[in-house]
Amino acid sequence: MNGTPRPVLVVGSGPTGLLLAGDLATAGIPVTLVEKRPHRISNLSRAFVLHARTLEQLDARALADELEAAGRPLDRIGLFGRLTMDLDTLPSRFNHLLVIPQYEVEHVLERRAVKAGVEFRYETEVTGLTQDADGVTVEVRGPGSEAETLRAAYAVGTDGMRSTVREAIGLPFPGRSVIRSVVLADVRLAEQPGTLLTVNAVGDAFAFLAPFGDGYHRMIGWHRGRNVPDSEPLGLDEIKEIARLALGRDYGMHDARWMSRFHSDERQVPAYRVGRVFLAGDAAHVHTPAGGQGMNTGLQDAANLSWKLAAVLRGHAAPALLDTYHAERHPVGRTVLRSSGGIVRLAMAKRPWTLALRAALTTVLDHVGPARRRVAGQVTGIGYRYPAPRGAHRLTGTRVPDVALADGRLYEALRGGRFVLITPRPYEGAGGRGDRLAVARWASGRGTTVLVRPDGYVAWAADTADERAIEAAVAAHVG
Ligand SMILES: Cc1cc2nc3c(=O)[nH]c(=O)nc-3n(C[C@H](O)[C@H](O)[C@H](O)COP(=O)(O)OP(=O)(O)OC[C@H]3O[C@@H](n4cnc5c(N)ncnc54)[C@H](O)[C@@H]3O)c2cc1C
Repeated sequence: MNGTPRPVLVVGSGPTGLLLAGDLATAGIPVTLVEKRPHRISNLSRAFVLHARTLEQLDARALADELEAAGRPLDRIGLFGRLTMDLDTLPSRFNHLLVIPQYEVEHVLERRAVKAGVEFRYETEVTGLTQDADGVTVEVRGPGSEAETLRAAYAVGTDGMRSTVREAIGLPFPGRSVIRSVVLADVRLAEQPGTLLTVNAVGDAFAFLAPFGDGYHRMIGWHRGRNVPDSEPLGLDEIKEIARLALGRDYGMHDARWMSRFHSDERQVPAYRVGRVFLAGDAAHVHTPAGGQGMNTGLQDAANLSWKLAAVLRGHAAPALLDTYHAERHPVGRTVLRSSGGIVRLAMAKRPWTLALRAALTTVLDHVGPARRRVAGQVTGIGYRYPAPRGAHRLTGTRVPDVALADGRLYEALRGGRFVLITPRPYEGAGGRGDRLAVARWASGRGTTVLVRPDGYVAWAADTADERAIEAAVAAHVG
């Protein structure tokens, strides 16, 4: 066994692992991040969209402004021909989606993690893992192929869809392949599409086209007649043909910098926690790229788990808090699987009844505000709420938007990784908890008292609360 045991070992430095490790280190928890690749971050981006809820989480870490400056906001998505979805009415400071390559997001998260003191171990592959009552023992193979054993109190597998950690803890990854032979290309266009983000499905083909903001567009397409292995060579002609079929034209695509074939699975682990080991991001769930939710869901997993692990390791919360990670995030993962799979199935519709269903849904989404808001809430992540205990206030478990406070705004107050207690009247009872609780007052005359968790969801609320009730709630949640 080498070195001093670490409180947390994170396996995999994709976006999920980088956010999680950065959060823990920022909270003062020593953390090691093990990554099998050499110092990575490829400039070929898989994901390229940040949704509103992820931007809110990044705002709570003072990272959103930098990413907003580097990306390109879109406030409207074109769906299935005439149907568009406007995002500018989203009840969020970020009432748009941000087109930004995954590598830009990873750069920002990595810089933060380095600054916070995360110990990075590149070219170090996890090969096995066992756990006992006190901790986790992780076998790794280092840069010179030397075997080593690391010990930590907790381990988190953020090691992607082929997760070694998941296998080591014996969890299945049930599900199936939804679509095969999807093609991807990052290309330049001779003509610019009318809508900024174009999705369409016609007959046997569908395609999706979105601007990166650096002169390239990402095209993702599929054609029913081209069911070939991922290894089959792919040329620009095939990409253009699918574009013409699905979008009616190929926009003069040229100069592809990346072309790839992939298949899309829909899978989820049955448990996000086994003892002292957690799974997050693609290690826990994979689904189709429709809706651009993969990276976003992984980042939300990390934001949910990090403050809980920090609270337990700092002795401010009982280990049972860690069970709420599965209880809260597994249902969200399941919904994302269903909704992104639903979009793809509708896009691939061929039978008369599925085509009729697509037409009907298009009409509903076009005309019925609540249905459109529900879909927008799911895709952007702002529509989720977490389960609340029986008898809890109606706000418990809901996401809190960036409300105005007497001296600032909520997502600035959350930047210390602390709970924020928002009260109608001055409250002096936080004594001794300044490292984990900020106290603020509403800018407006609201009478509700709300205790907001570090990840921006309501831990506790009361319409009228005396100091004793507030103190009891703070003691129960903040420790
Ligand atoms: C074509 C395509 C388009 C996509 N578009 C979008 C989109 O628009 N929006 C979106 O949100 N998502 C999108 N996604 C999904 C998104 O890319 C993933 O959801 C995201 O990368 C998952 O992040 P992660 O950190 O969980 O895992 P990953 O990014 O897969 O990172 C896992 C890391 O773990 C490392 N690792 C693996 N095994 C080990 C081991 N044994 N030891 C040490 N290290 C290990 C890997 O090297 C890797 O660096 C897309 C995916 C694809 C394929």
